[in-house]
Amino acid sequence: MFLMDTGEKEFILPQAPAMEKTGRQPKAELLSQLYNRIKGCQKCPLGATRTNLVFGAGNPNASVMFIGEAPGYEEDKTGIPFVGRAGKLLDKILAAMKLSREDVYIANILKCRPPNNRDPLQLEVAKCLPYLEQQIEIISPDIICCLGRISALYLLRLKLPMKLMRGNIYHWKGSIPVIVTYHPAAILRNPSFKRPLWEDMQRIMKILKEGV
Ligand code: SF4
Repeated sequence: MFLMDTGEKEFILPQAPAMEKTGRQPKAELLSQLYNRIKGCQKCPLGATRTNLVFGAGNPNASVMFIGEAPGYEEDKTGIPFVGRAGKLLDKILAAMKLSREDVYIANILKCRPPNNRDPLQLEVAKCLPYLEQQIEIISPDIICCLGRISALYLLRLKLPMKLMRGNIYHWKGSIPVIVTYHPAAILRNPSFKRPLWEDMQRIMKILKEGV
């Protein structure tokens, strides 16, 4: 692995990007082009207050994509998703799944930090979501895991309590299976969510192994 200097921040790309099944441009190259197109984005007011745009990180050829809500303080400082306390917990969850950040791809609904970590506004999501959708199309994972209700709300247009969304398999744009589970930050606030989250991760592993 190496760190690619993008000027504004660094993000991890694999050393030898594999070609897409179609034989077109490598996914890493497509993601890098997308990053270069959006790194100076000012389409919503969050562009003016961010320190770093948090594009997403991980393996462009990942089978599983984790999608959270928005960068927090640490993420804004570093330009890397999930690096605070919740991120460290996500690392532990991945390790329990026998995975690492190099195996998966991690991104958020928003690429810039909302002030005081407030929920994303509809206007911000309307401007930013197309970037994430392009990332999903490039990576084309076998499964997506929405971390938290905000992720499910904007990726799947689901406005339901977590307990009603968990356990179901949804499909992004009618194709890629999506599972919804708790955001790691919710586990830090309420450790009783740990068990259901682990059940959801086991479901992901089963789908990766056996298909939907
Ligand atoms: S949050 Fe998204 S749309 Fe808004 S400035 Fe950042 S990258 Fe652009």
